[in-house]
Amino acid sequence: MPHARDSVLRAMTDDGSFRVIATRTTEMVRGASQAQRVSGAVARTFGELLTGGVLVRESMAPDLRVQVVLQGDDERSRMVADAHPSGLTRGLVQLASGQSAISLGGRALVQVARTLHNGSVHQGVVSVPEGGGISSALMAYMQESEQTVTMIAVGCLVDDNGDIAAAGGYLVQLLPELDEGMLMVMTERLKDFQSMEPLLLRGAAAPEDLLAETLYGMPYTRVGDGDVTFGCTCSPARLAASLATLPRADIESMIADGKVLEIECDFCRKNYDYSPEQLRGLLAVN
Ligand SMILES: [Zn+2]
Repeated sequence: MPHARDSVLRAMTDDGSFRVIATRTTEMVRGASQAQRVSGAVARTFGELLTGGVLVRESMAPDLRVQVVLQGDDERSRMVADAHPSGLTRGLVQLASGQSAISLGGRALVQVARTLHNGSVHQGVVSVPEGGGISSALMAYMQESEQTVTMIAVGCLVDDNGDIAAAGGYLVQLLPELDEGMLMVMTERLKDFQSMEPLLLRGAAAPEDLLAETLYGMPYTRVGDGDVTFGCTCSPARLAASLATLPRADIESMIADGKVLEIECDFCRKNYDYSPEQLRGLLAVN
């Protein structure tokens, strides 16, 4: 498969009926899956969640950060997709011990949280619909929590080795100017695009193609585009902030050991070293 850049495109029909957002997320999902050391079915679900996070984020105000958390049926395994306004996207996979997969049936939940610059958070939780997947859970979230009728399809293909082959998706949102006749046309058309996998398989899932296909025959204007990149926002200061939440006695004993403390970022696996002097500094701040 060709190595195209990951990107996201936004378009609106000129009559104000629909908004479409389409994204290719292959490289981002690959990077995040490698960092989380997941492959196969787990990576596929993770890829869908990450792609969904990008689409939901792009449907909102430009400065919002969106986190989508999937909690499995076992109520202990979870996955997180974390999409930043800059296009940087990262994720976490935490399977309960003894689990090698995450089940979307039964008690599985999807929680979406969007965070403003000032730190205020709006969040909503939905059950994963019976027999549904990430796409249908996100549609339920948009309906219930954002009060918008949205069609979402996300997909992730893994190859025979369990590695990410392609990932992407689209979102179609009905706008207030929507014409009844147009709705019927779109509903009928989207039946052919309900599942992303066939499109990904035949290489027809580039964002430009998805826009052209879903909006075929409808005059539209591209209203925005952006990059999607696997990346993390961690820094020595941010990791130190998490260290500072440890019990004081624990930090004191690390200092007493006189060793350099190495902490790994859970999202990107980057290592940060803290010398005993730096740890002492942390205690002084507390
Ligand atoms: Zn990181």
